[in-house]
Amino acid sequence: MKKKKTRKVRLPNVAIDGPSGAGKSTIAKLAAARLGLIYVDTGALYRTVGLYMLEHGVDPDDPAAVEATLPEVEISLSFEDGRQILALGGEEVGSRIRTEDASRYASAVSKIPAVREFLLDEQRSLADRGGVIMDGRDIGTVIMPDADVKIYYTAAASTRAERRYKEQREKGIEVTYEEVLAAIEARDKQDSEREIAPLRPADDAVIFESDDYTIEECVERVCGIITERTTKSEP
Ligand code: C5P
Repeated sequence: MKKKKTRKVRLPNVAIDGPSGAGKSTIAKLAAARLGLIYVDTGALYRTVGLYMLEHGVDPDDPAAVEATLPEVEISLSFEDGRQILALGGEEVGSRIRTEDASRYASAVSKIPAVREFLLDEQRSLADRGGVIMDGRDIGTVIMPDADVKIYYTAAASTRAERRYKEQREKGIEVTYEEVLAAIEARDKQDSEREIAPLRPADDAVIFESDDYTIEECVERVCGIITERTTKSEP
């Protein structure tokens, strides 16, 4: 009997880049669940490197010290029910990477070329398996330049500041809107003006401005862009 030809279908890779606080990760996570793709949060990798430096008293603004410490950093990444789990030296990092200090350290170490190089293989090998929605700053430009779909997901600094301000007040954190806006503008400047892998839309990215939409509408639109770009029309 003639053997049936089976063709392995490769699931699409989606790159979502954009400034901090635009809500990329919320939307990417929901879109991945809806489309049966795996959500990869690359910011968490930089946060984990930052956390190691923070917990070991390494100055994140000293590139030589950070680079010399990198060989000690043992990161492992796994997925459980679609949830990304990161561990440092075998111990789950959990919410330790989400503190203000960890954010500041992540931002500082992400400017160091040796750190970006250190995390490159991990991100590329995730892309090689296919079927990922990866979010970050340089996914469409550096990590997955051949991604099937690239989305630059953004919102005005004032919108992002309003959302973050509301979130922090709800958590009982005492901040003013002006402080939140200043922090967002400082991060934008740092991310877009750094020499290595600066934040910018890939030439072939779809720009999505999320200002006027609810979360549900954003997910709907992002899924629409992905489906439209990955469904080839029959000739
Ligand atoms: O996205 P998130 O805020 O968690 O990222 C943490 C830090 O890592 C940010 O300051 C950002 O500059 C950096 N980052 C990066 N490249 C990525 C993802 C995040 O430089 N692909």
